[in-house]
Amino acid sequence: MLKAHALIFFGPPGAGKGTQAHALSVAFGIPHISTGEMLREAVRLETPLGLAAKDRMESGELVSDEIVSGIAAERLARPDCEDGFILDGFPRTIGQADFLERLLREQGRGDPLVIYIRVASCVLMKRLSGRRTCPICGTIYNIYFEPPRVDEVCDIDGAALTVRADDGEAAIRQRLDSYEMMTRPLLDYYKVRQQLVEVEGDRAPAEVASDISELVSREMASTA
Ligand code: ADP
Repeated sequence: MLKAHALIFFGPPGAGKGTQAHALSVAFGIPHISTGEMLREAVRLETPLGLAAKDRMESGELVSDEIVSGIAAERLARPDCEDGFILDGFPRTIGQADFLERLLREQGRGDPLVIYIRVASCVLMKRLSGRRTCPICGTIYNIYFEPPRVDEVCDIDGAALTVRADDGEAAIRQRLDSYEMMTRPLLDYYKVRQQLVEVEGDRAPAEVASDISELVSREMASTA
């Protein structure tokens, strides 16, 4: 019932899209596609695409619609997406949303379901600037809300925690500004199309996850 669908996680940087998309992907067995992760991987591997995107990403600006829509289309064409997928961080502009609408139509899929994770802007700065990641096991900590037992060290494997290249204060401000100017207008875009559902994101991740799971199941049942 769920499977043919395109799910989109939407919200400002720091809303918890990655965490929630990962949980839902495991629960429903469909791929979690993060354009931010794909771009970071391209930067790490120093591919031509990564080199083209690197400076804009590190300063917190959006990468061009052309580049991002290209990688999204290529990813969505892979066989593991046939039964549905979860997008995290795409679309982020009206141009990208138009592109995706055409693509989904071409692929013969139904309308996407957009899950908006709402978080007050005063919480976002601390969530982003406090974020630390273990380079070995991928566990994410927050020095304000979920600190490791020993400062800057992973509880699980003792590795030194890292800060994402765009989690410095200036880049965070730019990411929040880009969200306000370029991405927030998509809320109306999807509201008008009646494809948007909202969930309150300023709660424990497990609580948010349980609401999302319920919402998605309900929406899918009503469109089945
Ligand atoms: P966050 O949502 O925490 O800001 P992401 O990991 O989703 O971070 O993205 C990191 C960066 O990758 C963005 O700041 C931007 O530079 C680039 N990026 C990711 N997705 C897109 C997109 N759909 N359009 C343009 N740029 C993107």
